[in-house]
Amino acid sequence: MLDTELQVALDAVRLACALSRNVRAALVTEDTLTKKDRSPVTIADLGVQAIISDRLHAHFPGDPLMAEEEAGVLRAPENAELQKKVLEHVARIQPAMGEAQVMAAIDRGHHQGGATGRFWTMDPIDGTKGFIRNDQYAIALALIENGQIILGVLGCPSLPEGSMSGKDGTGVILAARKGLGATVGSLAGKTMQTATVSPAASPAEAVVCESVETGHTSHSRSSRIAARLGITKPSLHLDSQCKYSVVARGEASLYMRLPSKTSVYEEMIWDHAAGALIVAEAGGRVSDTAGKPLDFSLGRTLRNNVGVIATNGRIHDRVIAAVQAVIAEG
Ligand code: AMP
Ligand code: MG
Repeated sequence: MLDTELQVALDAVRLACALSRNVRAALVTEDTLTKKDRSPVTIADLGVQAIISDRLHAHFPGDPLMAEEEAGVLRAPENAELQKKVLEHVARIQPAMGEAQVMAAIDRGHHQGGATGRFWTMDPIDGTKGFIRNDQYAIALALIENGQIILGVLGCPSLPEGSMSGKDGTGVILAARKGLGATVGSLAGKTMQTATVSPAASPAEAVVCESVETGHTSHSRSSRIAARLGITKPSLHLDSQCKYSVVARGEASLYMRLPSKTSVYEEMIWDHAAGALIVAEAGGRVSDTAGKPLDFSLGRTLRNNVGVIATNGRIHDRVIAAVQAVIAEG
């Protein structure tokens, strides 16, 4: 089931990871990275989107794509240099792709989603702040059919294999198909093993993971929830959907994404689709802060959900009760 889709998605994400690593490596050697210069992120974002969109279109020309970026920015005359760099980086990975093919591939990502039909959704560089800091980032690709995620692939080019304390290797890739489990492997090899969530039976044993950025999640709420649950182990702070990856491989047992009291932010579906399926298929559970399943059938955002909680499953209900209690406190 979905064998071809899985193979195409894995191959596309592997190629895209190679591009993103090349962009990062050039940054380190050229030492041009300043906090204000967003162009390296733009180059990686657009290059990844071009490669993945092109591969999907070659194999599944009828499938629409919802992606974060568009090519318009590259057509502005003042961005000729940026466009040149995107084309160079794509050509290093896919030498046959010329300008017209790259621009067409980037432009193909404007699908609006919804409750019927099948479409792909992609975040070319999830965790751009992590990419700039040389921390974690992810390349996320998912296939949605009639509002249900049926396939997800996450490339995590900077995630150490095995655990966060492992030595930096060549990165990790995870995949899942609905009903068929989740797998994890090295970006360097082709073999994948089963991914399984942590066996932690009580919330007090949990290792928490959460965003680095306080603008994306409330750290004060998560520490109150952790205290209420009796959690004592140190938390992991990671950018991007790598948080879903560490839950799926059993390293963390609880990912909390907690809007602050005043937040009106709606989560984008490409920020969660791949990761949510991978955690669920690794034996975990994913919901919003009220315990409601995430609803991917409403277009580009999760507008009926508030925040995200992903766990190993066993501790989920007790975590949701603590989350609700802390939210009720204000
Ligand atoms: P993370 O690396 O998990 O902190 O999240 C990165 C993602 O957060 C980006 O892809 C953004 O789409 C998303 N994001 C941007 N603003 C917010 C916000 N106010 N609350 C939650 N997520 C956000
Ligand atoms: Mg993102």
